[in-house]
Amino acid sequence: MARAFVGLGANLGDPAEQIARAIEAVGGLPRSRVVSASSLYRTAPIGYAAQPDFVNAVVEIETALEPVDLLRSLQDIESGSGRTRSFRNAPRTLDLDLLLYDDRTIDAPALQVPHPRMHERAFVLAPLVEIAPDIEIPGRGAASSLLARLTNQRIAKL
Ligand code: ADP
Ligand code: MG
Repeated sequence: MARAFVGLGANLGDPAEQIARAIEAVGGLPRSRVVSASSLYRTAPIGYAAQPDFVNAVVEIETALEPVDLLRSLQDIESGSGRTRSFRNAPRTLDLDLLLYDDRTIDAPALQVPHPRMHERAFVLAPLVEIAPDIEIPGRGAASSLLARLTNQRIAKL
Protein backbone atom coordinates (compact mmCIF):
# COMPACT_ATOMS: atom_id res chain seq x y z
CA MET A 1 0.00 0.00 0.00
CA ALA A 2 1.13 3.53 -0.75
CA ARG A 3 0.62 6.56 1.48
CA ALA A 4 -0.83 9.48 -0.45
CA PHE A 5 -2.22 12.92 0.33
CA VAL A 6 -5.14 14.49 -1.52
CA GLY A 7 -6.02 18.18 -1.40
CA LEU A 8 -9.69 19.18 -1.59
CA GLY A 9 -11.16 22.58 -2.41
CA ALA A 10 -14.56 24.04 -3.26
CA ASN A 11 -16.12 27.50 -3.47
CA LEU A 12 -19.48 27.04 -5.20
CA GLY A 13 -22.72 25.56 -3.94
CA ASP A 14 -22.31 24.47 -0.31
CA PRO A 15 -18.51 24.14 -0.15
CA ALA A 16 -18.27 22.47 3.28
CA GLU A 17 -20.90 19.93 2.25
CA GLN A 18 -19.08 19.27 -1.04
CA ILE A 19 -15.83 18.64 0.84
CA ALA A 20 -17.47 16.32 3.37
CA ARG A 21 -19.06 14.29 0.58
CA ALA A 22 -15.81 14.20 -1.37
CA ILE A 23 -13.92 12.83 1.65
CA GLU A 24 -16.48 10.03 1.86
CA ALA A 25 -16.11 9.38 -1.86
CA VAL A 26 -12.32 9.19 -1.57
CA GLY A 27 -12.73 6.69 1.28
CA GLY A 28 -14.97 4.64 -1.00
CA LEU A 29 -12.40 4.26 -3.78
CA PRO A 30 -11.33 0.70 -4.55
CA ARG A 31 -8.37 -0.65 -2.58
CA SER A 32 -8.10 2.60 -0.64
CA ARG A 33 -8.93 3.93 2.79
CA VAL A 34 -8.81 7.33 4.47
CA VAL A 35 -6.28 7.32 7.30
CA SER A 36 -6.92 10.88 8.50
CA ALA A 37 -8.69 14.03 7.44
CA SER A 38 -7.77 17.59 8.37
CA SER A 39 -10.10 20.26 9.67
CA LEU A 40 -11.86 22.41 7.09
CA TYR A 41 -10.26 25.79 6.36
CA ARG A 42 -11.77 28.94 4.88
CA THR A 43 -9.24 30.50 2.51
CA ALA A 44 -8.87 33.43 0.16
CA PRO A 45 -8.96 32.62 -3.56
CA ILE A 46 -5.58 32.70 -5.28
CA GLY A 47 -4.91 33.78 -8.85
CA TYR A 48 -8.40 35.01 -9.71
CA ALA A 49 -9.70 37.19 -6.91
CA ALA A 50 -13.29 37.98 -7.98
CA GLN A 51 -14.85 34.81 -6.58
CA PRO A 52 -16.04 33.45 -3.22
CA ASP A 53 -13.68 32.19 -0.52
CA PHE A 54 -12.74 28.53 -0.73
CA VAL A 55 -13.14 25.74 1.77
CA ASN A 56 -10.07 23.47 1.75
CA ALA A 57 -8.94 20.28 3.46
CA VAL A 58 -6.37 17.53 3.03
CA VAL A 59 -6.80 13.79 3.55
CA GLU A 60 -4.20 11.09 4.01
CA ILE A 61 -5.02 7.81 2.34
CA GLU A 62 -3.58 4.35 2.02
CA THR A 63 -4.11 3.02 -1.46
CA ALA A 64 -3.12 0.21 -3.77
CA LEU A 65 -4.10 2.33 -6.80
CA GLU A 66 -1.21 3.49 -8.96
CA PRO A 67 -0.87 7.30 -9.18
CA VAL A 68 -2.49 7.66 -12.62
CA ASP A 69 -5.39 5.44 -11.59
CA LEU A 70 -5.79 7.40 -8.38
CA LEU A 71 -5.84 10.70 -10.32
CA ARG A 72 -8.46 9.32 -12.74
CA SER A 73 -10.60 8.22 -9.80
CA LEU A 74 -10.28 11.68 -8.23
CA GLN A 75 -11.34 13.27 -11.52
CA ASP A 76 -14.38 10.98 -11.62
CA ILE A 77 -15.36 12.24 -8.17
CA GLU A 78 -14.94 15.83 -9.39
CA SER A 79 -17.18 15.16 -12.39
CA GLY A 80 -19.75 13.45 -10.19
CA SER A 81 -19.96 16.61 -8.08
CA GLY A 82 -21.10 18.56 -11.11
CA ARG A 83 -17.78 20.23 -11.82
CA THR A 84 -17.18 21.41 -15.35
CA ARG A 85 -13.68 22.49 -16.34
CA SER A 86 -13.46 26.13 -17.37
CA PHE A 87 -10.12 27.78 -16.69
CA ARG A 88 -7.28 27.48 -14.22
CA ASN A 89 -8.11 28.98 -10.80
CA ALA A 90 -11.77 29.33 -11.80
CA PRO A 91 -14.48 28.89 -9.16
CA ARG A 92 -15.44 25.23 -8.80
CA THR A 93 -17.80 22.96 -6.93
CA LEU A 94 -14.94 20.57 -6.22
CA ASP A 95 -11.20 20.38 -6.91
CA LEU A 96 -9.23 17.29 -5.96
CA ASP A 97 -5.45 17.38 -6.30
CA LEU A 98 -3.03 14.52 -5.80
CA LEU A 99 -0.44 16.20 -3.58
CA LEU A 100 1.98 13.45 -2.57
CA TYR A 101 2.35 9.76 -3.34
CA ASP A 102 4.90 8.14 -1.01
CA ASP A 103 8.14 9.97 -1.76
CA ARG A 104 7.72 9.65 -5.50
CA THR A 105 8.42 12.31 -8.08
CA ILE A 106 6.33 12.11 -11.26
CA ASP A 107 6.68 14.58 -14.12
CA ALA A 108 4.20 13.72 -16.88
CA PRO A 109 2.03 16.35 -18.59
CA ALA A 110 -1.16 14.98 -17.04
CA LEU A 111 0.31 14.26 -13.61
CA GLN A 112 2.98 15.99 -11.61
CA VAL A 113 3.77 14.77 -8.10
CA PRO A 114 4.47 16.45 -5.78
CA HIS A 115 1.73 18.80 -6.97
CA PRO A 116 3.75 21.60 -8.61
CA ARG A 117 2.21 24.50 -6.67
CA MET A 118 1.51 22.92 -3.28
CA HIS A 119 4.69 24.27 -1.65
CA GLU A 120 3.57 27.89 -2.14
CA ARG A 121 -0.06 27.49 -1.02
CA ALA A 122 -1.03 27.95 2.63
CA PHE A 123 -4.43 26.41 1.86
CA VAL A 124 -2.64 23.13 1.10
CA LEU A 125 0.21 23.29 3.60
CA ALA A 126 -1.82 24.26 6.70
CA PRO A 127 -4.21 21.28 6.55
CA LEU A 128 -1.33 19.01 5.45
CA VAL A 129 0.85 19.98 8.43
CA GLU A 130 -2.18 19.58 10.75
CA ILE A 131 -2.41 15.85 9.93
CA ALA A 132 1.26 15.18 9.05
CA PRO A 133 3.44 17.58 11.06
CA ASP A 134 6.75 16.06 9.93
CA ILE A 135 5.94 15.52 6.26
CA GLU A 136 8.63 16.33 3.68
CA ILE A 137 7.81 17.45 0.15
CA PRO A 138 10.32 15.78 -2.18
CA GLY A 139 12.60 18.45 -3.64
CA ARG A 140 11.07 21.24 -1.52
CA GLY A 141 11.75 20.45 2.13
CA ALA A 142 9.63 20.25 5.27
CA ALA A 143 6.03 21.32 4.73
CA SER A 144 6.03 23.09 8.11
CA SER A 145 9.02 25.26 7.12
CA LEU A 146 7.43 26.12 3.78
CA LEU A 147 4.18 27.07 5.53
CA ALA A 148 5.99 29.33 8.01
CA ARG A 149 7.01 31.60 5.12
CA LEU A 150 3.44 32.11 3.84
CA THR A 151 2.19 34.56 6.43
CA ASN A 152 0.39 36.81 3.91
CA GLN A 153 -2.21 34.24 2.75
CA ARG A 154 -5.54 34.56 4.53
CA ILE A 155 -6.67 31.26 6.04
CA ALA A 156 -8.83 30.37 9.03
CA LYS A 157 -9.81 27.03 10.51
CA LEU A 158 -13.59 26.54 10.36
P1 ADP B 1 -5.97 23.52 -10.67
O1 ADP B 1 -6.28 22.47 -9.64
O2 ADP B 1 -4.49 23.82 -10.78
O3 ADP B 1 -6.80 24.74 -10.61
P2 ADP B 1 -7.35 21.85 -12.56
O4 ADP B 1 -7.86 21.01 -11.44
O5 ADP B 1 -8.34 22.48 -13.46
O6 ADP B 1 -6.32 22.92 -12.07
O7 ADP B 1 -6.33 21.07 -13.45
C1 ADP B 1 -6.27 19.74 -13.45
C2 ADP B 1 -5.24 19.34 -14.46
O8 ADP B 1 -3.99 19.26 -13.84
C3 ADP B 1 -5.61 18.00 -15.02
O9 ADP B 1 -5.57 18.06 -16.40
C4 ADP B 1 -4.53 17.08 -14.48
O10 ADP B 1 -4.15 16.14 -15.44
C5 ADP B 1 -3.40 18.02 -14.16
N1 ADP B 1 -2.58 17.60 -13.04
C6 ADP B 1 -1.24 17.47 -13.07
N2 ADP B 1 -0.76 17.07 -11.91
C7 ADP B 1 -1.83 16.95 -11.06
C8 ADP B 1 -1.96 16.54 -9.69
N3 ADP B 1 -0.89 16.20 -8.96
N4 ADP B 1 -3.21 16.52 -9.17
C9 ADP B 1 -4.29 16.88 -9.91
N5 ADP B 1 -4.23 17.26 -11.22
C10 ADP B 1 -3.00 17.29 -11.80
MG1 MG C 1 -7.04 20.48 -9.61
